[in-house]
Amino acid sequence: MNVLTRPGKRLFLTGDEAVARAALECGIDVATGYPGNPSTKAITALIPIAKQYGIAIEWSVNEKVALEVATGAAWAGKRSFVAMKMSGVNVMADSLLSIAHSGVRGPMVIYTVDDVGVYYGMVEQDTRYYAQLTSLPLLMPASPEEAYSMTRLAFTLSEQTGAPVFVLGTTAVANAITAMKVGQIERDSEKCPASFPRDLARFTKAAPQWCRDQHSDAIKRLELAGELCRNMANDENDVLTGETAGRGRPQGSLPHIYSSRVPTERMQPVFTLPATEQGAKGKRLGIVVAGVSFSYLQELRQRAPQWFADVPVLKLGIVHPLPRQEIESFLSQLDSVLVLEELDPLIETQVLAIIAENGLHVRVHGKRNGLLPRVGDYSLELVQSALATIDENIGRLPTWTRPRKIGNTAGMQEMPTRAKLNGNNGHVLPVLKMPAPVAALPRSLEFCPGCPHRMTYYALNRAIEQLGYTRDEVITTGDVGCTIIGMNAPLDTCWTEVSMGASIGIAQGMKQAGIERPVLAAMGDGTFYHNGIAGLLNAVQSGVNLTLLILDNSRSAMTGMQPDPGTGRRSDGTPSVRADIAMIARGCGVEYVKRLDPYQLPEMVATLQDAMRTPGVCVVIAEAPCTTQGVYINEPVQVDQQACLAGRGCEDTPCYHKVGCPSVLLSLDDVKPLVTIDTATCVACGLCVDACPFDAIKPIEQLNGHKSHGNSTFAGVQLRHMLQE
Ligand code: SF4
Ligand code: SF4
Repeated sequence: MNVLTRPGKRLFLTGDEAVARAALECGIDVATGYPGNPSTKAITALIPIAKQYGIAIEWSVNEKVALEVATGAAWAGKRSFVAMKMSGVNVMADSLLSIAHSGVRGPMVIYTVDDVGVYYGMVEQDTRYYAQLTSLPLLMPASPEEAYSMTRLAFTLSEQTGAPVFVLGTTAVANAITAMKVGQIERDSEKCPASFPRDLARFTKAAPQWCRDQHSDAIKRLELAGELCRNMANDENDVLTGETAGRGRPQGSLPHIYSSRVPTERMQPVFTLPATEQGAKGKRLGIVVAGVSFSYLQELRQRAPQWFADVPVLKLGIVHPLPRQEIESFLSQLDSVLVLEELDPLIETQVLAIIAENGLHVRVHGKRNGLLPRVGDYSLELVQSALATIDENIGRLPTWTRPRKIGNTAGMQEMPTRAKLNGNNGHVLPVLKMPAPVAALPRSLEFCPGCPHRMTYYALNRAIEQLGYTRDEVITTGDVGCTIIGMNAPLDTCWTEVSMGASIGIAQGMKQAGIERPVLAAMGDGTFYHNGIAGLLNAVQSGVNLTLLILDNSRSAMTGMQPDPGTGRRSDGTPSVRADIAMIARGCGVEYVKRLDPYQLPEMVATLQDAMRTPGVCVVIAEAPCTTQGVYINEPVQVDQQACLAGRGCEDTPCYHKVGCPSVLLSLDDVKPLVTIDTATCVACGLCVDACPFDAIKPIEQLNGHKSHGNSTFAGVQLRHMLQE
């Protein structure tokens, strides 16, 4: 019998297992993770029962890919869960920021554990900074029981706000074992089918305004999470019964609300243990506490209830955003406050800010005054020592044993002086006068004339249509770099952009969420080497059906033609070994690997169709160099004005509107539209020739009455090889 599904209403679970049980109850569809104690047991506990409950589960190749797969599922509207230790958060950070700003459509919970005290190795770090950095809500349980209830709460918050939500444990909570009351495992029988809308402004980063809007949306989601927690603390039944569903919910999140059988008091994101008496004037002490320190405090409270009789405690479950109103109201009754939190003084610093902003006179005890350490985990004895020191400092009757010396302020930095802040050896820097902003006409990103990526996406769109789909029916996840330009009209091919190499993980998650139609992932060669290989490995291991389209121009073209491992040259131009993408793909276990010249349009279309129909992971490499150096690919072309029927039978001018090449010029003449080719920039890729249904675009030599020379495609290939060398 699996530890998570033993019969009975009470189970003995560790913190990790409690999180897994809650995720199971919340109906997760996809669960991913990377092993690393102290978080490993969350996924380990789910693996044996995943099939029974219809959960796609995996140990991913790394934490970044784990997050991307979970995100793909959440973007397709499903419920996902991802688990890792704190070091893994650093690995996934690149995608995390991007995903945090886009938000999710189905709820997604990120469970991570800080190894406070370093029991398992690796850097001791405070993952709460990532919640601040990403504007994501973060809940911090104090016990395994709270790990259970807060994971449930996290799913509710994620669903109602559209934000991925962190549940952050620590080693002490993840490994502790407790008997706890659990809810029912409710698998939603009426699950909505997986779907994903094409919304570039939300799911790509390809325009500055979109990025700014997404950042603003992330902050709004965070504020909404804070508001929901505040409502929950005031009237939990409101949220638990779903009455707040949709209130202020950002567009795109799902209307589903979980019913909860969890006792309401266990879902509290913030609550106060009131003191029973007023302390002597000038000596009123309170405690603000988060995480496992609350468990230590509870034990001390049981040992010496008389000490706590006049000491109120504000317990924070949601640590980001902090409930500022509750903290402010709490502080306003106090003369001094003790802040109990492990690792860095994040809450303490914000408490100081609240005190300053509200003109309060409250003395703060914690890490900044050297009472408590910033390194290592807290313990019962440590908290007890801190309380004893405070007794001495504020003149309370001593209750606790004499404290041992605590003065660890490792890492605390000297507050900069005004002179240092101003820099320049204390001299105030002059204020620079900025020129008035100049308005510029908006312009969409487009591929250069003749770019092989345009050919590739054009072929893909044709392949999709020839398979009987519309372009709105087949998702192509995009990636960072010039290949993302394929999201723009008229190609409209790419749907998402997250981080380097993320397109394949996102595509895998969407397939595992249940998208039945073909799903493709597109990326460039640089992106493939950067992080795409890990995603490819993962997709092969997962056994999904998808096509990875690698647009290989053998260099980092968008940033200035820097070499990558496929260039065959080092940065200084000296020759180096050329990494072979096809061999790497085969080495990852891909059987279907095809390398083509994207300028060979019919073969490209046929191969892409074939790949989309073939089970497993298929890799299609469209290999051709960047055309920015203006080398002709075929023979130069021009529009034969005699044959061109623009405005006289060719109303939609596909050479212009379907190809989107900047070298095809369209002027709206009074008599008839005039289509011409800008021969100064055209590199004769032939795409507009293919698009013209009336054979009106021809080699210039032919138009001039000269005979064409030789095999143009062969000449083009030769030129490209010359360019590569
Ligand atoms: S041949 Fe047509 S599509 Fe290709 S670069 Fe020239 S104008 Fe553009
Ligand atoms: S597609 Fe052909 S016929 Fe139509 S406008 Fe272009 S060149 Fe002229």
